[in-house]
Amino acid sequence: MATRQRFQSHTWSDDPAELRHVANAFTKASPAALTTTFKLIEKGLASGKGFLGGSEYVGLAGIAHAYLHLSGSMAQISASHMASAPEPLQALAASHDSLLSMAAQLANAASTSPRHVTFLQGMPGVLCVRAAIYKAQGKSSEAEAAAMEVKQWHALATSMPPGECELLYGRAGYLYCVLYLCKHVSPKAADASMVAKLVQQIVSEGQRSPMAAEFGGLMYTWHGSTYLGAAHGLVGIVHTLALAHKQFPGAVLCPGVDLGGLIRSVTLALIEHAFPSGNLPSSQGSDTDKLVHWCHGAPGFLPLLLEVEGLCSSAEAARVHAAAERAADVIWERGLLLKGPGMCHGVSGNGYALLSVYRHTGDTRYLVRSLHFAEWLTERWQQLYGHADRPMSLFEGISGAVYFWADALAAAMGGERADHIVFPGYEI
Ligand SMILES: [Zn+2]
Repeated sequence: MATRQRFQSHTWSDDPAELRHVANAFTKASPAALTTTFKLIEKGLASGKGFLGGSEYVGLAGIAHAYLHLSGSMAQISASHMASAPEPLQALAASHDSLLSMAAQLANAASTSPRHVTFLQGMPGVLCVRAAIYKAQGKSSEAEAAAMEVKQWHALATSMPPGECELLYGRAGYLYCVLYLCKHVSPKAADASMVAKLVQQIVSEGQRSPMAAEFGGLMYTWHGSTYLGAAHGLVGIVHTLALAHKQFPGAVLCPGVDLGGLIRSVTLALIEHAFPSGNLPSSQGSDTDKLVHWCHGAPGFLPLLLEVEGLCSSAEAARVHAAAERAADVIWERGLLLKGPGMCHGVSGNGYALLSVYRHTGDTRYLVRSLHFAEWLTERWQQLYGHADRPMSLFEGISGAVYFWADALAAAMGGERADHIVFPGYEI
């Protein structure tokens, strides 16, 4: 029996000369798409349908994050560029304060299970979003207070069973919260010793695995499976270690371990395990080159490759760069997912991975690719929406589309601040 097609193929050109054409098409199509998605999200919020609980992943904090992000991205577009934008976009940019108020209202109403410690599933993630909203509103003491509250979860995160290290529910997901706050809200949100305890636990658990040698020195098992991808596996954990290594000196975080060298050797081993297409198997030993998802596959692997390239010698950097190009190629070829519009296993996450390459390299080819995805999504989101389990949410639904469109719009209209382009709950 034929299985349902996972993605739509296309014959688009990614020639940088296409930029003006695709940027104009997307800019023109985006106001109607944003207006309709907002109406639908408001309807879902009023009826309590289409999202679940308070989490960033499928709940209220994720929807709040999309509103916050849209207000910030619109502010990146210069007045001169905005003057020639379609009228509904000018109105959207002018509604900055009401977008932030909406974000604050949603984030303040959000709560999650007290057992969950991560950015994507737990209360620390909700508090991070609240802190970022307060900061955007200029309420610095409230922002700092929300950031300080996240510290209270450190004891729970460091006392979880040793195997709980992955990004979605484990230590790496709490470590991400701390790094996010230190960078975006308050450097006082955590000290190096808090970060070091988490990093040391994550590294020693990874080194204990009988499969560590095969993967450059670290491996993890989560609920019986050795996942490789961003959500539950090695890529998500090592990517978070790479972010910690960038913010704090490796010798402080992990005395006696060459943390940068370890991150590099695991990444090089992962490249050896990638498929010739550039995609990554979902778990160790899998030979099915099928899932091109952020959670399992190349779209989550690509940000790790982009981070690690700078840690490598020139010969290694060339290998990492070539792997990143292959990962971006497989996303371009098979990334128009028909499963839903969100960030986790949807076209927004895949378009976002291409946008991340543009942020890191400035190569216009990847902006062209990403804008093709963004424009396609303005035409198809209503169809994809019906396939999502939580259709309002950030990681499965249309809040993901809003988040992706926000950065795609700023980039298409000459936004200045490329560092604004950050995959939520993953990049910093
Ligand atoms: Zn997923």
